[in-house]
Parts: sequence; C-alpha cells; structure tokens
Amino acid sequence: MIRFALDDTIASLATPPGTGALAVIRVSGPEALIVGARVFRGERDLGALQGFQGTHGWIHDGSGPIDEVVAWVYRAPRSYTGEDMIELSCHGGSVSVSRVLEALWGAGARPAEPGEFTRRAFLHGRIDLAQAEAVADVIAARGRRAHEQALAQLQGGLSRRVRDLAGSIREVLMAIEAHLDFGEDVPEIPEAFVLASRLKETQIELVRLLTNRVPLHAREGCVIALVGAPNVGKSSLLNALVGRDRALVHDTPGTTRDVLDVVVEWSGIPVRLVDTAGLRDGGDSIERAGMERTYREAKAADLVLWVIDVSSTPPPDDEDVVDPALNPNRVRVVLNKCDLETEWKEWWVNSHYSMEGFLVSAMSGSGVSDLQHYLETLIANGQFTRSEPAWQTSERHIQLLFAAADDLSRAGQVLSEARNLELVAADLGRSLASLAAITGDEVGDDLLDAIFSRFCIGK
Ligand code: GDP
Repeated sequence: MIRFALDDTIASLATPPGTGALAVIRVSGPEALIVGARVFRGERDLGALQGFQGTHGWIHDGSGPIDEVVAWVYRAPRSYTGEDMIELSCHGGSVSVSRVLEALWGAGARPAEPGEFTRRAFLHGRIDLAQAEAVADVIAARGRRAHEQALAQLQGGLSRRVRDLAGSIREVLMAIEAHLDFGEDVPEIPEAFVLASRLKETQIELVRLLTNRVPLHAREGCVIALVGAPNVGKSSLLNALVGRDRALVHDTPGTTRDVLDVVVEWSGIPVRLVDTAGLRDGGDSIERAGMERTYREAKAADLVLWVIDVSSTPPPDDEDVVDPALNPNRVRVVLNKCDLETEWKEWWVNSHYSMEGFLVSAMSGSGVSDLQHYLETLIANGQFTRSEPAWQTSERHIQLLFAAADDLSRAGQVLSEARNLELVAADLGRSLASLAAITGDEVGDDLLDAIFSRFCIGK
C-alpha cells in the first residue's frame, strides 16, 4: 500500500492543535534530515548533529524566516520510529504551526496519517503491536490506574507473557513435527503424555492471563449519582465531597433542574459525581425533563447515593423511600442534615441508618469524610461488577487469547486420546498464529489500518 510505504518522509504536528506556548512538529523518514536542512537555518547544520543533539535556528520558506525553533535530531535506528527524525519546537500559534508544516511539506515531506509514526516504530521493530496499542492507551488514560496498566503494556508486560507461552507451544510443536517427519503416529510417541501435560499447563497459564481481571472503571472511570427529593441537600453534598462550590445550592425546591457533574480522581480512578434534578411529583415541563434524565443517570450509574433530609416527614407506611426500580446493591442511603434536631430525625436514623446508610451534614461537613472514605475504598477494591482483564487491554487481545486457548485445548485432547498427530500440529500452529497476532509477529495491513486509525495524527 503506497500510503504506508516506509521510503518516504512524513511530517506533522505532535502536540494538540490550537494555541499554546510551544508546539512540537515531527519529521520522520529516510530524508528527514535533508527535508529539515532545506528549511532550517541555524547555529549548526542539522546534518552535522549527532542523534539526541539539538540546535537553535529559524525555519524559512520562499518568503523568508517564518518561525524561530529549536531542532532536535534523532538518527536511525535510535529514534522513536527507528528512522532518521527531527523534532522542531516552534511557537504554539496556529499560524506558526501551519506555516512551518507547509514549509516542510513543500520541502519533500508529506503529511502523516493518524498513528503513522507509531506504525513505523512497529514496522521497524522498535516496538511490538501490543506495545504500539499501549501507546494509544497511555495517551487516552483518564486515571492513574489506567495509565499504569497501559505503561505496563508499553514496557512489554503482555508481550513477554505471550511470547513465553508461544515458546512453550513451539517446543511441543517441534517435538510433534519431528515425529511427523518420520511418519509416526501418536500411539508410537513415548512422550505423548508429557507433551499433553505441557500443553495443559500452557493452557492454564493462558486462561490465567485471561481471567486475571481488574475493574473496568480503572480505565473508564465510574459514575456515582446523587439522587433524592428536591432540597434534601444533593448539591450541597456534592460540593462537600468535591471540596468546592460546583453545584448550585438553593433552598427553593427544584433548583438543580438538570444534571450537573464533576469529575474527581479517587484512588487513581476518575469518578464522575452526578448531581441530578430532584425527584418529586409535578413540576413544570423543564423540571420533568430533568427528572427523566435523573432516572436515566441513576440506572446507568455504578452507584446511587440516595439522599434523604432527616428533617423531612417520612412517607406513608406502604411507600418505598428508595425507588424500587433501582438495583439495591448499587444504592446507598445518605441521611443528610444531621445537624438539625427535628421530630423525624430519630425515625429516619432508626429505619435507614442500619442498612448501609450514612449520617452526614453537608452543611457542617460532619460524616462527609467517612462517606468519602467508604466510597474510595469501594472503588479501589473494584466492588463494581464491571471488570476488564489486567493484562490485555483490548477486545482484540481477549479474542485472540481465547482462540489460542481453544486450539491448545483441542490439541491436548487429540494428543491424549492418541489420535492423528497432524491434527495436533495444525491446532498448535493456529494457536501460535493467534498469539503472534497479539504481538504483531503475524498481522495483515487491514488489521494495522484498524488499529492505527484510532491514533491521533502526529503519534
Ligand atoms: P438539592 O435540591 O437536593 O440539591 O439541595 P441543596 O443542596 O440545594 O440544599 C437545599 C437546602 O438545604 C439549602 O438551603 C442548603 O443550604 C440546605 N442544606 C443542605 N445540606 C444541609 C445540611 O446538612 N444541613 C442543613 N441544616 N441544611 C442543609
């Protein structure tokens, strides 16, 4: 495919578009230094610099100097892409950036496709495919835990495990092939039992890799919705939990008409706290639309804090306080306004405090840090049911590992039932191909296109 040939030179912005103090433009390819030399006039010629050396100068186009830059040179193969590269730190204005890019494109480079720098790093063997995918995950990580997980994959954690497993399978396959070369069949292999048990062990390792899971919200973040009647103190509680005045607090019922959210990071995990419109009968059409959204948010949330005002009158006997349509495992009752000594406080405390309820005062702050600590622990322990595997961060890896485990199990079965050796070899070959597709040792252009298209330009 011409678009992804490695013999041309690409250039693009590596930092986000828009204005900023600096912008970094990357150039990579066999002519990176030649292209650079055509537009750069500086204290030293780029061609005279060794790898990891930089110099100061100006970028010129046909009209004269267009930006002042610092240029860094990286020489193949010791660069991100494995090719000759230059990185230009220029001024972070959109005009500066587009003029410098146009100068580079005019001097022989072409605009890079999304993820093309990383794709080149993969094609030049600087990183394997699982690591390349981790680059996108490091950039996209929305919390510390997700970031650490992506970093582990970037450092080759998953690839190492997968290669170890592939190594064990390959040894068994070689033993089988040696017998095949002599036209033998399973009943004649003295070590069939040993080989079958090695396959079993490898399969167990594979399954362990698949089942070692961490909570999905480490990556995606989790959502906690504050729900309850108007004026019970939902907005005040959100502010108390976040530690700043984000939600609008007002003593007219129905103030929080729509949904308002704040993202905080607890235990390295992004947590979206959602303040919802108060649930009550009646209200105008805007308020009713807000209530509908509240139900949607509450159903979608990982956890609902059902806020109750202990100074309010309890509902009649047969009425549920908490909406019965919500999954009770995901609801915690928070009794607010405990600073008020009122007629019904004791009733509320007696009837709701025992069922994993919390007694707080959003106004005085009493009980709020206990509630926060409880929530943080819940999140850190991965109490929410959604989870994802610890090592393989993409659905692609999961499917390939499952396929490899399936083929291994069939190979082990055929081997232990003393059936056809060729079948065993074919299953082992397929299993190895699945593992090789994770690390990218065996992949086609279509798959690479699909993976790298989710990268940003310049990465
Ligand atoms: P929301 O409609 O549920 O979001 O309720 P708000 O947070 O807007 O609070 C409604 C009213 O209750 C405001 O006047 C708050 O100052 C008051 N309020 C909130 N929390 C407390 C509390 O813990 N104690 C007392 N005494 N008043 C509170």
